[in-house]
Amino acid sequence: MTDDNTEAVIRKYALQNAVFFKGAANPKAVVGKVLGENPEYRSRAAEITPLIESIVSEVNRMPLEEQAKALGEIDSSMLTREKKERAYELPELRAAVEGGVVMRIAPGPSGPLHIGHTRVSILNDEYVRRYKGRLIARYEDTNPEKIDPEAYDMIPEDLDWLGVKVHESAVQSDRFEIYYDHTRRLMEMGEAYVCTCDGDDWRKMKEEQRECPCRGLPVETQLERYDRLLSGGYEEGGAVAVVKTDIAHPNPAVRDFVALRVVAHPHPRTGDRYRAYPMMNLSVAIDDHLMGVTHVVRGKDHLNNTLRQEYIFGYFGWKKPEYYHYGLVNIPDAVLKTSLIKEGIRSGEYAGWDDVRTGTVRAMRRRGIRPEAVRRYWVESGIKPVDIQFSWENLYGMNRDAIDDVSNRYFFVADPVRYDIEGVGAIEGRAPLHPDHPERGGRDYRVEGSRTVFISAEDSKAFAAAGLIRLKDLCNLEYGTPAKHAGNDLSVLKRGAKAVQWVGRDGVRAELLMPDGSVQAGLVEPAVLSEKGGTVQFERMGFARLEEVGPGMVRAVFAHR
Ligand code: GLU
Repeated sequence: MTDDNTEAVIRKYALQNAVFFKGAANPKAVVGKVLGENPEYRSRAAEITPLIESIVSEVNRMPLEEQAKALGEIDSSMLTREKKERAYELPELRAAVEGGVVMRIAPGPSGPLHIGHTRVSILNDEYVRRYKGRLIARYEDTNPEKIDPEAYDMIPEDLDWLGVKVHESAVQSDRFEIYYDHTRRLMEMGEAYVCTCDGDDWRKMKEEQRECPCRGLPVETQLERYDRLLSGGYEEGGAVAVVKTDIAHPNPAVRDFVALRVVAHPHPRTGDRYRAYPMMNLSVAIDDHLMGVTHVVRGKDHLNNTLRQEYIFGYFGWKKPEYYHYGLVNIPDAVLKTSLIKEGIRSGEYAGWDDVRTGTVRAMRRRGIRPEAVRRYWVESGIKPVDIQFSWENLYGMNRDAIDDVSNRYFFVADPVRYDIEGVGAIEGRAPLHPDHPERGGRDYRVEGSRTVFISAEDSKAFAAAGLIRLKDLCNLEYGTPAKHAGNDLSVLKRGAKAVQWVGRDGVRAELLMPDGSVQAGLVEPAVLSEKGGTVQFERMGFARLEEVGPGMVRAVFAHR
């Protein structure tokens, strides 16, 4: 016995199977799906199988677009194939309680973010989301010589695009008095000193596990010198405030470290107000404590810094955060150095921070790399301390997963060569906007009049050599001037004919900016003009983001194949 509901269930899966397989559902596959998803039918398999066969053949008589439409009306989510679930998850953090996790990212505002910076941003954001905690963005602008004032605005934009949710922001140049007070307290405790030795001599003495003459001076002398340091009484290089650690520490990098130094260069935010500038280990340790940071996830390059910062936590009796140091990543074939990009912009070599030849977040965004892909890349890379090699190909693969479904397909013809076609009237053809989405409709072609088409210079050469070519989704051509219409039989492909992209007389001028900065000029089919922003796939070339669309021209930026 079957009822309407059983038929509806079968019809749904038959439609889906048909839509996934070019309009032709396979009855066996549908039987498998129906019984697999509805175990209660299994005892009735003998009765249901013929019913499935009859519904499948009914569905297969419908045109693909109607099948897609009918399925869309029943359940539009069934139009897309289920994506494989993410295989990788970050490990739990030690001592992490939901709602009690505070983390931070600490960019230096020297320029916008590049791909290297995205790792720390994504990882900290992922953990804060997981534990429903708070993320602090702390702008570490304590080196006035390395600041680009625009970076204070560009970095939050980059974080926003990455989908990193910042709950609170702080700027270290607002907090100098805090660092000064704490350093004074360290002096009073006898755990810091002002050193006026020559820098090289001081380092050499440390290497030899020897104290410099300043280290042992009485606290009163240190405090006098400290006042002088803060009030501008020393020239650049004339004195530094130093935090004591263990002068005989087995790791020389950990023996006494500089906390404050004199810098004469004006600060873009505070001008000449301060002469004493905190060094990273001082300001980072104080801020991590005062801001209530519970977990620090950062690169292995900070391992020695952690050892230094732990002394400050120890002197003040503060509870240390949980520290994690992930391995270093080598990012090949990318211009990342902020100073180099800046120089390139100044000299006119680069168009701006989003120049596609650079590895900035802005450049990736421009190329149609999606933040989901960047996120997945870093989550899958994990936080293990092993060093890794960055693979652009893997990032591109992840981006392909992210954009393939939303990117409609079009023809782009580079360096177009013209052919007129004889031996036929008007030629009509149709191609889907997206092979997995018949419901989106198609591109309808009608080539008439002189029946002019353009194919790429490269395909034109192949055409001349082979004598036969297929214009994809339109017809076959025999070589000649004009070319001769040669029917529409797909079996020419089996005989080795090349299927090529083409555009008609209504082709639109297009420029495709390539990752090496070169520009491919060509023609695209006019349907591209109806795509606003977003990404498309130029068949046989790759994915691209449409940066400017119309009127009468398209400017696209190449993403990857
Ligand atoms: N501002 C530091 C940097 O950019 C980060 C400090 C930290 O993560 O502790 O390297």
